Amino acid sequence: MRVLIVEDEKRLAATLADLLNREGYRTDICYDGTSGLDEALSDRYDLLILDVMLPGLDGFGVLQQLRKEGSPLPVLMLTARSDVADRVRGLDYGADYYLTKPFESQELLACVRLLLRRGSGESRPEDGIRFGDLQLEQGTFQLTCAQRSIRLSRKEYDLLELLMRSGQKVLTKEQLLVKVWGYDSEAEDNNVEVYISFLRRKLTHLGSRVRIKTLRMVGYCLEEVAE
Ligand code: CA
Repeated sequence: MRVLIVEDEKRLAATLADLLNREGYRTDICYDGTSGLDEALSDRYDLLILDVMLPGLDGFGVLQQLRKEGSPLPVLMLTARSDVADRVRGLDYGADYYLTKPFESQELLACVRLLLRRGSGESRPEDGIRFGDLQLEQGTFQLTCAQRSIRLSRKEYDLLELLMRSGQKVLTKEQLLVKVWGYDSEAEDNNVEVYISFLRRKLTHLGSRVRIKTLRMVGYCLEEVAE
């Protein structure tokens, strides 16, 4: 398994590389966004660890360009900022996971293992979840409708998976918040709304007949509308 580290803080980059090398991963380091993007597009890597604040092209720019080029490379973003807007932005651009500095090495290794497992195609066809004209793939986070396909961020995936599994049964905002963000998270109801709107945009983009229905003061459920 080969990991690309794009991080301009040389000591942190070296520490990350050491940590991963000791676990048997091969690593390469880039110290700026532009060369990082070139390397990431080379198809030689299984995972990208990407810092947000970089000289030249920043982490968001790298990520955006990478996804624009159609790269499915799993991306773990690192940031010193704990700003919710930043995290949402990163995830919306297609990051798979977000770690806020400083983090524990065990936490980082757990994320790396998770993302590599997910990217290694361990998923089986029965891992796909269906609702209406939608199919959601667990292994790739790919949402498909007819011939169109789109890749979801982690949170979008978790949220849509819950909705698809519940189908027309209503889930409350609190249920979604706890299941997707967890009890201890600082996320608020507002996060659910933000991600529901991301998903709605994606459903529209795919031309799906599935809608996320809002039941005021109650919650959300899916419905399939006639063409
Ligand atoms: Ca940096």
